[in-house]
Amino acid sequence: MSRTEIEVFEQEELARVRISMAPPLRWVNSYILRGEEGVTIVDPGPRSNLTESEWRTALSELDISPRDIVSIVVTHHHPDHYGMAGYLQLLTGAEVFMSRRAHEETERMWGEGSAMNDALLQLYRKHGMPQSWYGQLPAHMESFLAQVTPSPEVTYWEEGDALVMGGRDWIAVESAGHAPGHLSFYDPERCLMLCGDAVLPQISPNISLLPGSDPQPLQSFMESLAKLGTYEVVKAFPGHRNPFTHFAERTQALLAHHEERLDRIGSLLTERDQTGFDVCTALFGLDLGIHQMRFAMSETLAHLVELVRRGRAVEIADPEGSIMFRGAGRVG
Ligand SMILES: [Zn+2]
Ligand SMILES: [Zn+2]
Repeated sequence: MSRTEIEVFEQEELARVRISMAPPLRWVNSYILRGEEGVTIVDPGPRSNLTESEWRTALSELDISPRDIVSIVVTHHHPDHYGMAGYLQLLTGAEVFMSRRAHEETERMWGEGSAMNDALLQLYRKHGMPQSWYGQLPAHMESFLAQVTPSPEVTYWEEGDALVMGGRDWIAVESAGHAPGHLSFYDPERCLMLCGDAVLPQISPNISLLPGSDPQPLQSFMESLAKLGTYEVVKAFPGHRNPFTHFAERTQALLAHHEERLDRIGSLLTERDQTGFDVCTALFGLDLGIHQMRFAMSETLAHLVELVRRGRAVEIADPEGSIMFRGAGRVG
């Protein structure tokens, strides 16, 4: 790792370390906060041989020894944020903090006897995905297991609770939608927000409908954006891309983006009845890898269930057993 991949903010209290992950995101931002209480790592990244060596280099460049690390804080359960928490806990003995709901999601995804992979395949099949796509899912989903092993012992940190990181009180703000139980962390003294993937600059955070998880993820996300937009934020430290200043405007832009996408899907459904997969390919095309297809399909379904919730579309069962969506008011 070159020195330029560590960047220091706020009088050296807060450092951003870029940890590698798969394209298209390429890196996740891990943050290191140093105070008298010790060192805190926020979102350590996915586990791989490469990221283990990136952490060794980063800690030695910052002159941090493993025993200096007292807390590992996880914004949400996705492998690119939570993945290395257990490995680093073994290395450092640090406490790992995340919300109870986020911890439940790790169990749902990767816990013993998890039925997620099969349930996801069935969900996509029911929504019209052909076998050539859903057949790729099991191997793809299993590939994440190595990134999140071993799992950590977790201490819960919930909405409104304060934790000292970098010598300051940070308050947890529940900001679900991108992931259930997602927490952002707010420093009210300096108006800083560590926002994980709840608000990203340039990128629209993926909103996924997943079986057994949040049944209305887009509604949750839009409520979180409305709430986060009320905070006074001088600088936001996101999970991907670079720290940014226009936090409230970004929440507004993301809300507008989703309203536009809902309108676009609503108009597609006035033309003819469509499966989730039909809508997905109309929006995102087919020139995708399986990872992007999973994001595209679950994002489409998240919008479709939101249209149904708002009374702008209805679900109808197709005689073949799949589910079709119909624009409200259209006669089939
Ligand atoms: Zn995420
Ligand atoms: Zn992420």
